[in-house]
Amino acid sequence: MTNPIARVIGVSASAAALGLAMVGPGRAQTADIILLHGRILTLDERSSVREAMAVSEGRIAALGRSTEIMELAGRKTRVVDLRGRTVIPGLIDSHIHAIRAALSYSVEVNWIGSSSLEEALGRTREAARTAKPGDWLIVAGGWTPEQFREKRRPTQSELAAAAGEHPAYVQLFYGWALMTPAAFKALNIATDADVGPRGRLEEDADGKKTGGISGDTATITALFSRLPSPSFEQRVAGTRAFFRELNRLALTGVVDPGGFGMAPRDYQALFKLWQDKALTVRVVYTVFAQKRGSELEDYRNLTQLLPMGMGDEMLRFNGIGENVAWGMYNNDNPSEADKAQFYEIAKWAAERRMSLNMHWHNDRSVGQLLDIFERVDRESPIKGLRWAIAHLNDASAATLERMKALGVGWAMQDAMYFDGERFQKEKGAEAARRAPPLKTALRIGVNVGAGTDAHRVASYNPFVALRWMLDGKTVAGTLLRGPEEAPTREEALRMYTLGSAWFARDEDKRGSLVVGKLADLAVLSKDYMKAPLEDVGRIESLLTMVGGKIVYAAGPYAGFEESARR
Ligand SMILES: [Zn+2]
Repeated sequence: MTNPIARVIGVSASAAALGLAMVGPGRAQTADIILLHGRILTLDERSSVREAMAVSEGRIAALGRSTEIMELAGRKTRVVDLRGRTVIPGLIDSHIHAIRAALSYSVEVNWIGSSSLEEALGRTREAARTAKPGDWLIVAGGWTPEQFREKRRPTQSELAAAAGEHPAYVQLFYGWALMTPAAFKALNIATDADVGPRGRLEEDADGKKTGGISGDTATITALFSRLPSPSFEQRVAGTRAFFRELNRLALTGVVDPGGFGMAPRDYQALFKLWQDKALTVRVVYTVFAQKRGSELEDYRNLTQLLPMGMGDEMLRFNGIGENVAWGMYNNDNPSEADKAQFYEIAKWAAERRMSLNMHWHNDRSVGQLLDIFERVDRESPIKGLRWAIAHLNDASAATLERMKALGVGWAMQDAMYFDGERFQKEKGAEAARRAPPLKTALRIGVNVGAGTDAHRVASYNPFVALRWMLDGKTVAGTLLRGPEEAPTREEALRMYTLGSAWFARDEDKRGSLVVGKLADLAVLSKDYMKAPLEDVGRIESLLTMVGGKIVYAAGPYAGFEESARR
């Protein structure tokens, strides 16, 4: 991108010849931070790799060779010696329930990334040791038996042994939960009738209850909502800690699609951190329909004081979704009335130049959604509004062509990493070979954003997702996706940066490292471009910067971290 206010000021002739430029006429003539001796993957149009960078007033002021960039150093400039390390633009997850995950992060036990059931239960045992009497031990998701050496779920007696006196709850995706006897007692659950219309208390061959509860998404969501909810202070602490955890993994931005049960009060911890200038991840968020039947009325009310784009570079309102209307959510056979209602809402959003993203799973039924998008587009053009479809792992080329023609983007996640074997069993090996069709999407030119859908159904770790994008292997090691749908390392990284920024209408402000853009970046523990594939999933950030501020630093850079302003 070209920055209209970029000027060459106080830069040596040789530096000027290299295209070095300082941002902000007449102001900062020296850089705030300088990064030297690295491999900076800029993701500019020519895929340039630069050695050094200067950051000034939160933006990238110059890129070039170390000796030239050093000329921009002043007395107060902080200098980071990269020692050959790789720097990437800050990663952006284009579909993560980050606001919700953050609320309970300080009071949950995290099984994400654990390689054995024994290790996972050990985390619960550890949490039990430090928890206050009566505190719940909650695992809200983000794990699958496939990741464990034991390849199975925990039993109630194992969980109870780890949790001790504490009531404990473990959720697997949105279909199953395990609770200890203390938890059953605390929630007064004794029969199927106590777990909603479609919940079932599982029994073993002898008719003895196992502690497992199975049900559909609504049942498990309702069950989860009966757990004690964190206090406001715990929510603020959780949000702070979760965003720091994302920074540890090189994330500097999220596109948040709301979620079941996310009431306006559930956004207050986020807003508090924003007001305190303590956010360390840029958040754009959409409103998710909470009540069946009053979707449009609710959007109308909520957006009277919240117009599209309201906010700033750290936090911004980004439209509606991922549940736009209940009638078409996870419904492959919507009625005419469902479609008419969706059309009315979509038209309303288009007329207000609002972004819209919709959750959809099956290619065989997505035409009904696209029919509505096309109809709206004829009446009120949606190109440029950054409408999107999330998931759609079996997208056909024809569907992607229709999306491209409408300017509709694809928010793609690593669901197959966790759930690939089940998908293969249901749809066959041929379908699994192209799920999701990343190369086809690139060839067609539809905008693809990468992400995880964390944390109830997946891990939020972007490097696990990047590795899976490259090699197509599930958490259990099964090779599913074919090489014909495998992107290059740079293509995958572009999806996780510029591709995701597109959904926030921000690709000209972040997602690549060019002069004038926001200084959002991460210094990696390993070279993403050259590390063996199996190591890509283990990469972490050693230093993460958001808008020129060092929000996370570890190892050799630990001394650089600026504690968040309160
Ligand atoms: Zn979804």
